[in-house]
Parts: sequence; structure tokens; C-alpha cells
Amino acid sequence: MAHNQTQTKPPEPADTATRRNGILVALSVAVLFVSPQLVTMSRAVANLPVSAAAVAWGRTHGGTCHIHGDLTVSCSHMRDGYANGGTTVGNVWLYGDKGGTERQRHEIRHSDQWAMLGPVFPALYGAECARTAGDYHRNVFERSAGLHDGGYLP
Ligand SMILES: [Zn+2]
Repeated sequence: MAHNQTQTKPPEPADTATRRNGILVALSVAVLFVSPQLVTMSRAVANLPVSAAAVAWGRTHGGTCHIHGDLTVSCSHMRDGYANGGTTVGNVWLYGDKGGTERQRHEIRHSDQWAMLGPVFPALYGAECARTAGDYHRNVFERSAGLHDGGYLP
């Protein structure tokens, strides 16, 4: 039985191609819209154990803790229990009175570092402090979090 293998595919109707393009555009828009929420959720889930401990720590040291829309927590007005102007542990920013949106943006980047590196992050941060002899301007984690936002630059 002879069979012709060289049949050509019939052209798609224009409305099928248009529908396919519409679906692709809708999926692209959905990914762009949903992805920030995925990042926020992933960071919060990855940091949850240390964040829970940090909130307990913050409250123990007199902090007033508030959760934000991006699932980070700021514990302000702490008597003590934080280093420098403030310390981020997981998704929790522990500090006294050096708040502000720029600082918060800086600390959220530290939360991202916690989420990416996990419990190894404090050791790596400490090693980086040793490598740079405490010069935060050369510290890769501080540079990545933004020196200006962190208050390290005028
Ligand atoms: Zn920092």
C-alpha cells in the first residue's frame, strides 16, 4: 500500500492563531502579576522557622512587632538584643529607633539573603565581616542590600 508521507499541514484558521496568541499574552501577564507574590511567599516560607524565633526574641527584648504586606516583620523600640542600628533575622527586622522606608528596603534584601542561604547566612556574614575587617562598605552582603538604603553612605 503506497502512502504519501509528504502531506503538508493545512494552514491554521486565523482565529486559532489569534486565540493561541491571546492565551500566551494572558499567561505572560499572569506570570508577571503573580511572580512578586511567589517571591514574597517563598521568602516567608523559607525564613519561617528563624522568623518565628526572631519575633519571640524581639518581644522578649521589649520590641513592638508589626507584620507588613510583604510578610516581613519589623520589631521596633527594642531595649537591646540587636547589633549596630538593627539586625535582620529571617523576615524579621529587629531594631531600636532607626526605622524608615530606606532602611526597611535594605533589611528586606537581607531577608532575601537569609532565604537564599538559609542558616548558613549568619556564618557567611560573619566570615565576610572578618574578611573586610568590619568595613561594611566592602561587605558583599551589605553592598548587595544597598549601602545608601542601609545608612552606610551619606
Ligand atoms: Zn545591612
